[in-house]
Amino acid sequence: MEKEKVRIGFYALTSCYGCQLQFAMMDEILQLIPRAEIVCWYMIERDSYEDEPVDIAFIEGSVSTEEEAELVKRIRENAKVVVAVGACATQGGVQSWEQEKSLEELWKAVYGDAKVKFQPKLAKPVDEYIKVDYRIYGCPPEKRDFLYALGTFLVGSWPEDIDYPVCVECRLKGNSCILIEKGEPCLGPLTRAGCDARCPGFGVACIGCRGAIDYDVAWFDSLARTFREKGLTKEEILQRMKIFNGHNPRLEEMVEKVFQGVEE
Ligand code: SF4
Ligand code: SF4
Ligand code: SF4
Repeated sequence: MEKEKVRIGFYALTSCYGCQLQFAMMDEILQLIPRAEIVCWYMIERDSYEDEPVDIAFIEGSVSTEEEAELVKRIRENAKVVVAVGACATQGGVQSWEQEKSLEELWKAVYGDAKVKFQPKLAKPVDEYIKVDYRIYGCPPEKRDFLYALGTFLVGSWPEDIDYPVCVECRLKGNSCILIEKGEPCLGPLTRAGCDARCPGFGVACIGCRGAIDYDVAWFDSLARTFREKGLTKEEILQRMKIFNGHNPRLEEMVEKVFQGVEE
């Protein structure tokens, strides 16, 4: 008897579509054909169905409109496993950088008085609206992470999380440390590894696109103290750490702690 195919959906919220492009360019996706049925993927197939039941839903982009907030709830109802993919879906993306400002203020700065048909909202990660079962990080995610997660699901198992920082991979590569040697504000010490320390490998400081490590081991305070010693102000530190961590509940509190009683 023919084995039932795993039903998969790729869904896009507000984003640059870079994550989807990354997946669409993977030849390995073709190997899925005997095992899986792709029910929804507008980037590849115009006749896609957003409201069909699926086994695995991959969601890209941040929730940035009322319509998207409703869509993610419907995806959740229809999916056995929901996977947030990319920095937009997992952390809110760079569009969450200044999320402490009001929607009106941000809208005015970017669009002026332009009118739109949709109802905009402040950008948020998907898990602010629905339960997310697994996350694939990065901007865009690594091909290796996506294939690992998908392959693991297909054999009925569960992928592991990476719980160590970019610095580990950077040291293993033998890069010289940009933070220590050049004094540049590298976010590698608090950012989840998995990119093989790509940016430091090219002599560029990490900006944290894979988000802060979980399990309360993202040491915003220790790194803020180091940045402060190198001459950065509180505002500069917060701005840098917020590029991809605007929704992290610990960030502000931990950086504030470092500057309590300090004259800038
Ligand atoms: S995570 Fe990065 S690559 Fe993916 S959609 Fe968002 S901005 Fe684009
Ligand atoms: S360059 Fe950045 S990622 Fe590499 S070891 Fe130094 S702080 Fe860590
Ligand atoms: S080094 Fe940092 S910014 Fe560069 S890809 Fe890795 S996590 Fe992203």
